[in-house]
Amino acid sequence: MLAQTFIFLAAGTISNCVADFAQYTAAYIAPRKFEIEAEYTTPQSEFWIGHQPTEARPEAQSESVRNLTAYDADDRKIEINYTGEGTWRTEVGVSRISYQLVADHDEIKWPHGADEVAHPFGGGYYFTGKAFFVGAGTEDMTCPIEVRFDVPETWTLTAPWALGEHNGSASSMLDLFDNGFAIGPYKTITQKVGDLSLTSVFDDRLAEQVEPYIGGLLGDLLPAYTKYFGGAPAADYSTFHFAYPSSDGSAFARSFTLQYEYPLNMIERQLWSRLLAHETMHLWIGVVERTDQEIEWFTEGFTDYLAIKQLYRLGYLDDESLRSEIASIVTRHQLGKRMSGDTSLRAAGANKGQNWFLIYGSGAVIALILDAEMSLEKPGSFDDMMAKLFGKGKQSYDFDSLMAFLDGSSNGRASNVFKAVDKGLRANQINSRLNPAGVGVAGMMDRTVISFVDKCNKPKGCAPSFLK
Ligand SMILES: [Zn+2]
Repeated sequence: MLAQTFIFLAAGTISNCVADFAQYTAAYIAPRKFEIEAEYTTPQSEFWIGHQPTEARPEAQSESVRNLTAYDADDRKIEINYTGEGTWRTEVGVSRISYQLVADHDEIKWPHGADEVAHPFGGGYYFTGKAFFVGAGTEDMTCPIEVRFDVPETWTLTAPWALGEHNGSASSMLDLFDNGFAIGPYKTITQKVGDLSLTSVFDDRLAEQVEPYIGGLLGDLLPAYTKYFGGAPAADYSTFHFAYPSSDGSAFARSFTLQYEYPLNMIERQLWSRLLAHETMHLWIGVVERTDQEIEWFTEGFTDYLAIKQLYRLGYLDDESLRSEIASIVTRHQLGKRMSGDTSLRAAGANKGQNWFLIYGSGAVIALILDAEMSLEKPGSFDDMMAKLFGKGKQSYDFDSLMAFLDGSSNGRASNVFKAVDKGLRANQINSRLNPAGVGVAGMMDRTVISFVDKCNKPKGCAPSFLK
């Protein structure tokens, strides 16, 4: 449920590219085995792969990399040493590496789910870039990287960087690493709204019960989000859906992945729509900001809140489900405060897994209170603020610049709400802030009851107007 971001990318080095940074070629040589070669335009001496250690695999993703060999500009072999935490180093500049990648990732359970790493399905393979490619360099991060696959003719490559059938161009090392891709005998579905194009791959086992529902849901969400934000990001995105022993979801730079508990439990449908609405919302919120850990509460909490709001507007949540979703936001905040102790919201992002309830719960409570209070003053002003933020385009926000923007659009209210929630609000304190806007809250630590304050005899549509 969380995407790892590499610290070194936070520096955001922008360099002028005169040439592509690297070219990767991946040949499928046997079941579960790829032979990969990478050539670098400038010599490199540090190499890395994603690193999510587990007891079963203390050296994590790097354990699936075999026979890593390095060569200098004259194609002479160079000594390369694994130095731990998914990193290899050389003394001499390296122009080319080769290695075998064994797709054995499904043999163990990964700490943040298979969707963060890799999983074979339907005769092909799903990987995240950071489990497949050995990356290099700390500079030239924003230079394009060419990727080419040598695979059976009938296979398709689905990746946000796919241009041709089996090749593509990642815009940067981040784009290569922080995305999922699928390679195998898959058929794909592409949905478009404006300049946003979304290509999806589904596991065959999901063909009858999941694919039509998710396809229809995306068909509703994409135009609704576009309307809400006054535009859609111009980009190619990919989504991956496979069956797994447990459900999960992860968002990456230009892609997201959902895994569905199999055998399917159709009662989970409402959970899928929540996950999908959340991950799709990340196409509008959170992709550019996510390099700053101090605003994870915004990236995750606002995304979650807006996803709930949109699902209600579109009729995927009825009044009762909406109340239960709001109750769950408040409960998460309570649990987060207890489980994360004195950790502040700004600091919580540095350990997202540990502070999950705090980040998601408190972030969504901030969005909810801010929306309620701003809308009371001027209906629609919270929604306008979100559209304005999107309209400013791709920018890297840190805590101060984000708060400056939110405060500028809310007369300083954002800071006020943030501080109150950061200190911790009990259910009755949340009630005093939400009640004037028509939402009643009561609760104890692990349970919350929500009511819509206005007398409403209609079977549905009773939520106060700011939620509609
Ligand atoms: Zn998220």
